[in-house]
Amino acid sequence: MRAVVTGAAGFIGSHLCEHLLAHGDEVMGVDALTDYYDPAQKRDNLRPLLGRDRFTFRQGDLLTVPLDALFGGVDVVYHLAGQPGVRGSWGPEFAVYLERNVLVTQRVLEAARRTGLRRLVYASSSSVYGDAEVCPTRETVRPRPVSPYGVTKLAAEHLCETYRMVFGVPTASLRLFSVYGPRQRPDMAFARLVAAACTHRPFPLYGDGGQSRDFTYVGDVVTAMRAAALSPWTGVANLGGGCEVTMRQAIMLLGQLAPAVRVAPGPERPGDARRTGADISVARAAFGYRPATDLRSGLAAMVLAERTARHGRTAATA
Ligand code: NAD
Repeated sequence: MRAVVTGAAGFIGSHLCEHLLAHGDEVMGVDALTDYYDPAQKRDNLRPLLGRDRFTFRQGDLLTVPLDALFGGVDVVYHLAGQPGVRGSWGPEFAVYLERNVLVTQRVLEAARRTGLRRLVYASSSSVYGDAEVCPTRETVRPRPVSPYGVTKLAAEHLCETYRMVFGVPTASLRLFSVYGPRQRPDMAFARLVAAACTHRPFPLYGDGGQSRDFTYVGDVVTAMRAAALSPWTGVANLGGGCEVTMRQAIMLLGQLAPAVRVAPGPERPGDARRTGADISVARAAFGYRPATDLRSGLAAMVLAERTARHGRTAATA
């Protein structure tokens, strides 16, 4: 299968490229290497992919690159490029969120409409729900985002649904719930937590630690993305990890895998939902989704990756 992965240098995008290549697909990665976090980390994510058979990379901004040429002859586009993070989406930064999440997705959909893809998989988000009325949450629950980021992800998802219903663009929008694993974005809680444990620095905890998330391992997410692309199903589905855990519980679990962290309590941040939990029955029925990685194994993989990276950096400077 020939695939384009937008956001290929990012956390989830780089794992997805590896997964597709391992399954024999031909992959073109596209990424602007934006400075939402250090682009050097994105170059590190790309390094193992560059030079591999069946992988090509194009650096470019999806707001301006000619997409018809990029999508010609392609079976599946996985659209992961975007401006992530709830906390930075307030104030003047909102314009960037609109461009990278909404306008870019509309451009991708217009090109998809003209080029006749077999599937367009869109990385939507659990943040469309905000503080959901019911938990675990089904896709039919009314979305009520509590951050401007969530508003842009919902707008882009609605665009996918609009192009699907009006023009028959075969979109599969997957609402990802708190994805974690090696190479996680440095602004996300587990990346900060594991780094704090491995460097014996305090971990700034936002809020009382009672906020809970349905954490989803990145390997399960990318497996589901390819399964969704291969299935005949289109529409909107949740991708959660299968169990809801509070930050306090996650910190305790990490303490069994790495040196205990000293928590530096801080105020709650506007835009963070109190709890998230996915009902995954739609994804299970549509493309056989079954998350396979429990939180302990996923966190252990993060600790190992962090230690290996730190060891490599120390050896390089010795
Ligand atoms: P990430 O920031 O690591 O990856 C996104 C990539 O998109 C970055 O490498 C960035 O440079 C690229 N990008 C942004 N705007 C671009 C543009 N205009 N043109 C080309 N490239 C551009 O983020 P991530 O955590 O890997 O998230 C990937 C996607 O999944 C995002 O759309 C995000 O909203 C969605 N998502 C992530 C999570 C999560 O827990 N990480 C949860 C729900 C949804």
